[in-house]
Amino acid sequence: KQLPADPSSENTRRQVAKACFSYVEPKATKNPKLLHVSPELLETLGISAEESESEEFLKLFTGNAVLPDTKPYAMCYGGHQFGHWAGQLGDGRAINLFEIAQNQQQWALQLKGAGETPYSRTADGLAVLRSSIREYLCSEAMFHLGVPTTRALSLALTGDLVLRDVMYDGHPGYEKGAVVCRVAPSFIRFGNFELLTSRQDDATLKQLTDYTIAQFFPQLGKPSKATYISFFEEVAKRSLEMVIHWQRVGFVHGVMNTDNMSILGLTIDYGPYGWLEAYEKGWTPNTTDRQFKRYKYGAQPDMLLWNLNQLANALYPSIEDTEGLERILNDFRDQYFAGYLKMMRSKLGLSIQEHDDAYLITDLEQHLELTETDMSIFFRNLANFSSEKPSEGLEVVQDAFYSIDEVSDKIRQQWNAWFEAYAKRLKLERNTSEDRKEKMNQVNPKYVLRNYMAQLAIDDADKGNYETIDELFKLLKRPYDEQPEHQKWFAKRPEWARHKVGCSM
Ligand code: AMP
Ligand code: MG
Ligand code: MG
Repeated sequence: KQLPADPSSENTRRQVAKACFSYVEPKATKNPKLLHVSPELLETLGISAEESESEEFLKLFTGNAVLPDTKPYAMCYGGHQFGHWAGQLGDGRAINLFEIAQNQQQWALQLKGAGETPYSRTADGLAVLRSSIREYLCSEAMFHLGVPTTRALSLALTGDLVLRDVMYDGHPGYEKGAVVCRVAPSFIRFGNFELLTSRQDDATLKQLTDYTIAQFFPQLGKPSKATYISFFEEVAKRSLEMVIHWQRVGFVHGVMNTDNMSILGLTIDYGPYGWLEAYEKGWTPNTTDRQFKRYKYGAQPDMLLWNLNQLANALYPSIEDTEGLERILNDFRDQYFAGYLKMMRSKLGLSIQEHDDAYLITDLEQHLELTETDMSIFFRNLANFSSEKPSEGLEVVQDAFYSIDEVSDKIRQQWNAWFEAYAKRLKLERNTSEDRKEKMNQVNPKYVLRNYMAQLAIDDADKGNYETIDELFKLLKRPYDEQPEHQKWFAKRPEWARHKVGCSM
């Protein structure tokens, strides 16, 4: 493949002054091979199963061909990383191929791991199989859980080896290279706005804001200062909904830097993410964040607020109204507590609102940390609790305890007291227990992508067996269904996986 004559299309790394994006060419790969394609997303995009099996599809979604009349590009954005302004970042290993319109919806398709871009800085623009499996499986699993997210269309091997200098679990320095095709209405991030403001480029900032509103928030109306404030409010609302979903299913993002915050409130960038096994507010899957735990489970709402503050600063030049923005930011905590309470009520099967519900919930959170207690198993099994038999509560949820020996008499008493309070509260409800169970099972997933499950798929794939990827993909399509034939995945993390978490490289 020849590089286009346009010099702005060069993939060489650089500071790209004034640009919002750069044209780039995906890197041709040695021996591309598709490992998996999402049938649901194919359908959403209007691509037939037959087309997905074609040579053209393979070439396109591994970076070995570009559609005629399209110009792939990498986006330029900045970001606050771990609380510090990092300047220009940009798509270091993502390349947008094209957008398609299907059923009134616009979809951008981008390759992750298709080679260097001007924004690759010191890295290689590539992705390894293990991180690609994690991104692919998790994005589709999150979608089926009902969590707003970017999607993944395909997972492919490139046939090239990628050098990773971190030794990982006995892996040699070279690993199999892979490419994931990610899909979302847009990949614009908080960091796109921040970068323009840091450059004091008010005109382009306004252009980007107007474009984003016109394309994705048309209901907000024509550009005006009031519209920009509504835009900020809507982004805050959507992002908050996303984080409340994360708290509901026990998802910890791990790197909530502002360059990883979608302006559409979608979960984006599946790097060192992890799932709570034992419920623990202080848990983070990100091994590089173990000291400060900035992005731990319990901090995700606060970190969102911090990020929204940065977005407010970024939008300020177009608005010049601190009051409007501050009102939204000051309101955030109330909005969060209201949303969180509503979500937790649903996890407990409470459909009416009682004043003391917040106490019952806070109490429960503390109980869940008394000993290692598996979050998913606890809430799933709680649906079997009978308000007539509070003394049997512990038995109903006991599979969730990692070590029953740690459940001392004192802890038993504490739990029994909580179950008494819960039973009393349930008696105020009007629905039947069958009804409650059904509703609870719609918000408390039975199957999530536990960290060790992704690891098993990775270990098998390393040995050339890709069936586990398909097995987990199919399982996680129906996370709320009983699927008794897959009961083995409704189990606590095995002991060998205790300290294993993902890695994003
Ligand atoms: P992340 O922590 O994944 O959000 O990445 C932060 C920045 O590093 C983004 O600008 C990424 O595009 C870039 N980046 C991460 N991994 C690579 C890689 N292998 N090659 C090039 N750039 C990368
Ligand atoms: Mg990122
Ligand atoms: Mg990443």
